[in-house]
Amino acid sequence: MKYYSTNKKVSGVSLKDAVVKGLAEDKGLFMPDSIKVLPQSFFDTIENLSFQEMAYTVADAFFGEDVEAEALKKIVYETLNFDVPLVHVNDNIYSLELYHGPTLAFKDVGGRFMSRLLGYFIKKQGSTNVNVLVATSGDTGSAVANGFLGVEGIQVYVLYPKGLVSPIQECQFTTLGQNITALEVDGTFDDCQALVKSAFIDEELNEKMKLTSANSINVARFLPQSFYYFYAYAQLKSFHPKLTPEELEMVICVPSGNFGNITAGLFAKRMGLPVKRFIAANNRNDIFLKYLQTSEYRPRPSVSTIANAMDVGDPSNFARILDLYGESYKAITNEISGVSYNDEQISDTLKTCYTKTGYLLDPHGAVGYRALNEKLNDDENGIFLETAHPAKFLETVENIIGEKVEIPQKLQEFMKGEKESLSLSKDFEDFKNYLLSV
Ligand SMILES: *Cc1c(COP(=O)(O)O)cnc(C)c1O
Repeated sequence: MKYYSTNKKVSGVSLKDAVVKGLAEDKGLFMPDSIKVLPQSFFDTIENLSFQEMAYTVADAFFGEDVEAEALKKIVYETLNFDVPLVHVNDNIYSLELYHGPTLAFKDVGGRFMSRLLGYFIKKQGSTNVNVLVATSGDTGSAVANGFLGVEGIQVYVLYPKGLVSPIQECQFTTLGQNITALEVDGTFDDCQALVKSAFIDEELNEKMKLTSANSINVARFLPQSFYYFYAYAQLKSFHPKLTPEELEMVICVPSGNFGNITAGLFAKRMGLPVKRFIAANNRNDIFLKYLQTSEYRPRPSVSTIANAMDVGDPSNFARILDLYGESYKAITNEISGVSYNDEQISDTLKTCYTKTGYLLDPHGAVGYRALNEKLNDDENGIFLETAHPAKFLETVENIIGEKVEIPQKLQEFMKGEKESLSLSKDFEDFKNYLLSV
């Protein structure tokens, strides 16, 4: 499979180059030349497959031409060494719990897959010293860092906004040591993302060192996120063995920031997954909702919210969505609707859901859950993506529900380590000089 750039000046790029480069030279995002539609028989019996088996079928459709079957299988099986259960919350609303991986957020899926695929290509090529740059609003950093921890020949630099990630999130990428370096940037997530993007197009830097990105701009991170949409469907089917395929068509609500997760869902639908429609749920950073309402895309500086992993003012993957729908505003609004909630609404929802159903949401999942409560019709089944474990936002969640939240063992382990990070300004020259000096 070849990849082209959303800016259309670059095409015919191999999977390996797309993964190693991250961002195309024309600053666009890579897209696969085609999206294979999976056979109806796959969907008819999908509930009989394990998560890993169905994920391998999906992975094969994207990567099968470029990665040997055995190697790809190993990558998929190692990536998905944890469950993604679909849990009934109330009425016709289900939570797809994506937080059972090593760092307790959905980004483990893409982070683990990408680190392994990149490792595969590097080993094949015999090259070493690849530098992975990753900007994080909280959860990407830890997922990517953990995916790459101890992998030979790879150095990881995690850029995060000072004071804008939760203390638990921070300790997940600042305490690892080895080949992981945490860079604390005096700015916002958007500033971190801008630094990473500038580094990729800086000629001098690219001459001196091999740089790649592990943000959802990387195809190896965002495409694997389509796996769990299929698994959600298989589980919904198992819940309702009597429903017809039409009745099983899902409404999927994705708490969105950089829009990589929802884009993977849109790809899954293109592959034939029965999704009736998508809801993109935003916090106050509602650039996409404004686009849906006005047909104009106007990036704005992000504002800080309690669903901090979605504090994104210029979502990278918007370019992919536009491209996927042939730039048609009408086609986009036909399949995707949007909502935006402020912190008070998010807190209210988290508290009400907990009191009424006993189900504990995290602030991001709360945005998705609320959207389904407001927008789902009675004859529809709605699934929201529960993108991170509530304990990752301990203080916020405990303050809202007025109770202690149990911290999973995995998370407690991270909290024992010692924080180590380097401070940087948001000035690109500072970052560049630092990279050149290491
Ligand atoms: C990253 C993240 C999101 C946003 O996902 P995108 O793919 O950037 O839209 C939502 N919730 C949590 C917990 C996250 O870590």
